[in-house]
Amino acid sequence: MNPGGIDFERLTSDGIRRLRAYDPGHDLIALRQRFGADRLVELGSNENPYGPSPRVREAVLAALADIHRYPDPLGSGLKRALAAKHGVTLPQLLLGNGSHELLMQFAQVFAGLDSSIVASQYGFAVYALAAQASGARFVAAPAFPRGHAMPHGHDLDAIATAIEPATRLVYLANPNNPTGTWFGAPALAAFMAKVPGDVLVVVDEAYAELADAPDYASAISLLARYPNLVVTRTFSKAYALAALRIGYAVAHPALIAVMERVRESFNVNALGLAAAEAALADEEHLRLGCAGNLERREALARDLRERGYAVYPSQTNFLLTEFGPRSVALESGLVARGVVLRPMVGYGLPECLRITVGDAAENARLLQAIDEVRHEH
Ligand SMILES: *Cc1c(COP(=O)(O)O)cnc(C)c1O
Repeated sequence: MNPGGIDFERLTSDGIRRLRAYDPGHDLIALRQRFGADRLVELGSNENPYGPSPRVREAVLAALADIHRYPDPLGSGLKRALAAKHGVTLPQLLLGNGSHELLMQFAQVFAGLDSSIVASQYGFAVYALAAQASGARFVAAPAFPRGHAMPHGHDLDAIATAIEPATRLVYLANPNNPTGTWFGAPALAAFMAKVPGDVLVVVDEAYAELADAPDYASAISLLARYPNLVVTRTFSKAYALAALRIGYAVAHPALIAVMERVRESFNVNALGLAAAEAALADEEHLRLGCAGNLERREALARDLRERGYAVYPSQTNFLLTEFGPRSVALESGLVARGVVLRPMVGYGLPECLRITVGDAAENARLLQAIDEVRHEH
């Protein structure tokens, strides 16, 4: 209790009282101090070891000249580039301080008390937080079982079944984090045909640039048919700009107009805007980064499988891997050796760890550390 004796919990709404802060995993700042930033192998946050296009550095340095000015509140330069890339119009675009901000805000704006939000079991953790913060009830639809071709993946039929009259919003991740799973374009089209028109469907495509499965397609092509469809993207993953916090949503202009009323006018900063625009212009860098990720992901998956671990299919820059009942001990052994992965206890997958695909040297150090910990026991 504080000196004034005010119980601030009591002043909050029910949803906020039950809300737990997003769990970012380990205290990376402390670990960097302990091991030295260059000796720590950080494979817990799905960052891109390839880094952004060299043009980004130049654009950010140039933008530094004006940091005493407020950024462009409309982000028009970046929006024009995004509109050209996706074949949409500027009023269909909404910029966010990372897509995380937008995912939270969709719930705040379109759901709330007496409503429900549906997502898949093992869906990205932010969806449940967004529901809770908005006061909405969170409904988790059962995911595909372990033996399915897409283990732990979104079962769109189960999600459609979970929609009830009170449902205002559905979150889908394609591909999904932490499972790495995806669903194909025909499945999404069939799903959209079943969803009532007044239920918003947010398709989170944070890893879309990394997906290359033959049946994978962005939901952006369905926007013209479904005004209740929203697609979110981010510059944090394939574009390697996680620190600068740039994400965006694409949707019907009328839906975006509502969101624009809630958006903070300067939610996206000037360095981020400049960086994202420069990153978009360097398609070759993006292509090389994604191709390299795919190659190293498949090599790492093979090396993990050779050690007897089950590696789930992934269309992303990470691998959900099953280490069995010793996974908690293994994970602490790895942290003690300066290798950081993401534990999956919070997702209800305690025998799994999520491994971000690193560069070749990082992946080699991970495998070496796994072998050391295994031989210890
Ligand atoms: C990383 C991630 C995001 C959020 O990224 P931002 O940095 O906030 O843009 C959104 N969805 C999924 C599934 C992610 O893995």
